[in-house]
Amino acid sequence: MDKMKMQLTEIANAIGIDDVPESWQEITIANVEFDSRKVRPNSLFIPLKGQRDGHDFVDNAIKNGAVATLWAKDHPNVPSAYPALIVDDPLASLQKLAVYYLRKINPKVVAITGSNGKTTTKDMTASLLETQFNVVKTEANFNNEIGVPVTLLNMNANTEVVVVEMGMDRPGQLDFLSKMAQPDTVVITMIGEAHIEFFGSRDKIADAKMEITDGLKEDGLFIYNGDEPLLRERSKQVEQQQYTFGSNAADELFATNIQTARDHTTFEINLVPNQTYEIPMIGEYNVMNALAAIAVAKAYHIDPAQTVAALRNFRVTHNRTEWVSGKNGELILSDVYNSNPTAAKEVISSFSQTETKGKRFVVLGDMLELGEQSDEMHASLRAYLDPQLISEVYLVGTHMKALAEGLKNKYEANQIHWYAVNEETQLIEDLQVKLTNQDEVLIKGSHGIHLEKVLSALQKAE
Ligand code: ATP
Ligand code: MG
Repeated sequence: MDKMKMQLTEIANAIGIDDVPESWQEITIANVEFDSRKVRPNSLFIPLKGQRDGHDFVDNAIKNGAVATLWAKDHPNVPSAYPALIVDDPLASLQKLAVYYLRKINPKVVAITGSNGKTTTKDMTASLLETQFNVVKTEANFNNEIGVPVTLLNMNANTEVVVVEMGMDRPGQLDFLSKMAQPDTVVITMIGEAHIEFFGSRDKIADAKMEITDGLKEDGLFIYNGDEPLLRERSKQVEQQQYTFGSNAADELFATNIQTARDHTTFEINLVPNQTYEIPMIGEYNVMNALAAIAVAKAYHIDPAQTVAALRNFRVTHNRTEWVSGKNGELILSDVYNSNPTAAKEVISSFSQTETKGKRFVVLGDMLELGEQSDEMHASLRAYLDPQLISEVYLVGTHMKALAEGLKNKYEANQIHWYAVNEETQLIEDLQVKLTNQDEVLIKGSHGIHLEKVLSALQKAE
């Protein structure tokens, strides 16, 4: 379905161009697209500067069906064969157009940020709201200053709620994105240590995350993880209505009786007695993401029975934690695309609780970008590794030496193994011979450590 229907003249006016040649006035735009390969008929092409300059792809975009393009005024050779709107900066125009379009469609806006759990919470929230509204959400993980306007421009005339993931890696970014989207509801999932190397402290990360409230409407709602004192403290500065979720009675919404199984997790919530909620994924942390989504659903008056059903049927589109089968018949919990202390602790805890007749093994790679406290943070995983539950620990990377050291008085020497990043072949050899079809293996590390090599060596071909 076409996303939008707007005259090129209206678009031009929205981005500050008053004069449009008469011959262009009949042109109708159905999509806005910046990737020339994805252009569809009747698209407006936006040439952005990435690794390559989008202006180099305008001809391709036109071949693929674009009927007009933006063009940066400092870029030579303005095309004459097709309509080109000359602007100062195509990215700024994209953002301006998104704001115009947002006002025109006028949906409710839910904006979600947090150090971890943004995408999961975004997808869960959308699936709950979809039971009663027409919803558009951020595609995949597209949460930056291009992704947010693109999400807004993905709406159509029937969109009632847009659920927008907002990421940040520097101060000021969420202030900008929030003011662009002017949310009715904002959610902060949690504060972790992601990007701490750049920020210096969790306090500064919390300050930057709080910027998501900068564009919150006056009558809007601020939903946050009440287990995080840094957020509780800062919430006092927010004048809008507030609501907290978390793991204890200090929170307005909290979970009890959390039970983890290999492929699903169940819990109850204080608001609806004697009702079991189920999510089809491992990880107590996902209960927190579900609570955030339930809090939004409650604010939008979603029927509680629908909430239960939608969570049970929730399909994870972008799951980075997934079970796969290994060559020896073992089960592997793969989480090789990112790692930080909070996420690693959460995943290890959940993994430790699965029912298994065999042994549990973990393979942990360095967690990158942790700055000065890196060794300390790696060593802090020690508390989460219990020899009764996890039989052997395989560590990869320089920073993991600190954990290997810390585990020495907890594990026997032959239960802890350390490898340099380029020694994964040895690791694979050492681990593979130990695995039986009763066993389970967790693999987690920062993307830069490339544990996907270990994963694919152990994994049974599909
Ligand atoms: P990104 O910054 O890459 O966009 P994200 O914030 O969107 O990440 P998700 O994609 O939802 O996060 O989850 C990524 C990983 O973070 C999960 O696989 C899990 O390890 C961890 N995680 C997810 N939710 C939480 C949470 N609430 N608390 C702690 N860790 C979490
Ligand atoms: Mg994400």
